[in-house]
Amino acid sequence: MSDRHEEFAGKNAAMSRAWGASKPKVRKKKNEPKTGICEKCQQEKMVRSYRVRLNDRSEGVASYGFTSRVLCEECRFQGKPRKKEEALSDKAIKSMLRNAKRSLR
Ligand SMILES: [Zn+2]
Repeated sequence: MSDRHEEFAGKNAAMSRAWGASKPKVRKKKNEPKTGICEKCQQEKMVRSYRVRLNDRSEGVASYGFTSRVLCEECRFQGKPRKKEEALSDKAIKSMLRNAKRSLR
């Protein structure tokens, strides 16, 4: 009987320990999306702050370092090679059309 009681007490203790462990862990995420105004498109969206390498060369003075910019996901991925590809393919299509017209003459 006493064994059973001990077992129960042990279980209870384990449970309370588990409850204690399941306290909300406050883990700060560095880059949590939050509602804000994107620096690029000036729209209120889910934004993140990104560390951007500063590489400005104005008036012959190069400034290096990091700055944080608040950007939405869309703007974040704009200006990446993907956009260049689009520009290239657009050019390619135009030159193809030109070539096609030439071959028709
Ligand atoms: Zn944006």
